[in-house]
Amino acid sequence: MSYLTLNHLEKSFGANHVVKDFNLDIDKGEFVSFLGPSGCGKTTVLRMVAGFEMPSSGSIVIEGQDVTGLRANARNIGMMFQAYALFPNLTVAENVAFGLRVKGVARAERDARVAEMLALIGLPDLGARYPFQLSGGQQQRVALARALAPRPRVLLLDEPLSALDAKVRVSLRNEIRAIQQDLGITTIFVTHDQEEALSISDRIVVMNGGVADQVGTPFEVYNKPSSAFVANFVGTLNLFRGVLEVPASGVVRLGEVLVKLGRAVDRPRGAAVTLALRPEAVHLGRDPAREVTLPARIDQVHFLGSVIRIRVGAAGTQVNLDTFNRPDTPPPPVGSQTEISAAAADFILLEE
Ligand code: ATP
Repeated sequence: MSYLTLNHLEKSFGANHVVKDFNLDIDKGEFVSFLGPSGCGKTTVLRMVAGFEMPSSGSIVIEGQDVTGLRANARNIGMMFQAYALFPNLTVAENVAFGLRVKGVARAERDARVAEMLALIGLPDLGARYPFQLSGGQQQRVALARALAPRPRVLLLDEPLSALDAKVRVSLRNEIRAIQQDLGITTIFVTHDQEEALSISDRIVVMNGGVADQVGTPFEVYNKPSSAFVANFVGTLNLFRGVLEVPASGVVRLGEVLVKLGRAVDRPRGAAVTLALRPEAVHLGRDPAREVTLPARIDQVHFLGSVIRIRVGAAGTQVNLDTFNRPDTPPPPVGSQTEISAAAADFILLEE
């Protein structure tokens, strides 16, 4: 049985229908990200789980208990928001103790829990400081400790890293994931950053226009996107416009070249179709093991260190590809003619 269930959730603000038939089962200890563009309804779903927003219809069940009608503070849920959510007039220790005080936890236990939480977030000695005396990353760690101190059943994180600079973001997200796994706490994480969602989630819910477009592991969502929206939103894609030549075996013509997808495509012969390829599926040069070869011209070379991202013009489009750096092989010069190749199985046929 799932630990947290969202059943047919709907939410409208006046005439604005922002969450539509949203269903999700989350297991105990799972880390699930809601990923989607601004305004797709991620925060609204999270706020309904928290109890800050009443669903227009549908229900929320935690550990078999229907909490839909419960007030926020009766749900035992921890929340962490974007930066600057700490109480500025309270010390770090008082901030962390806040939820325990509200619950009426006795002083000795409160102090012990605060010490335990500060150790957990790696700031055991900063209890007496005020938020303004902390870096942004430290403030967010304290916010995490504050959310976790009352031992909530579920942890909700609403873009908690978005105000931090890139390096702190990466280290803190890894830390959040480690703590979450350590405690085994069921977590929902809202983000519009696909790299963030891919890197730390057990599963990702890709949202679009108030609907859960796809639910899957990062591996599934990246490699088997269920829609053109998901394919485009998660990761970088190269898009090729082609014409369906043989629907029964999925043969698509890209300019002079035929791509044999090897599976039936439920569209009429002659239909315009879009094929997508991830940058890492494109090989620079001819490779006998890959069935599709296209003439190409090097347009741009970005040396990123371990990886070199190369942009070429091929089949009437711009194609990004990644190669690993090899110290004995300098990248080809811009303007030179070459070929690119790819395995037919790596092409993703996008729904129109
Ligand atoms: P972002 O990443 O920008 O936070 P989001 O995916 O979290 O976006 P929501 O904040 O859930 O999106 O908002 C979804 C839609 O609902 C938006 O069109 C927003 O304007 C609207 N909305 C959210 N809260 C309210 C409210 N209290 N009253 C009216 N409309 C609201």
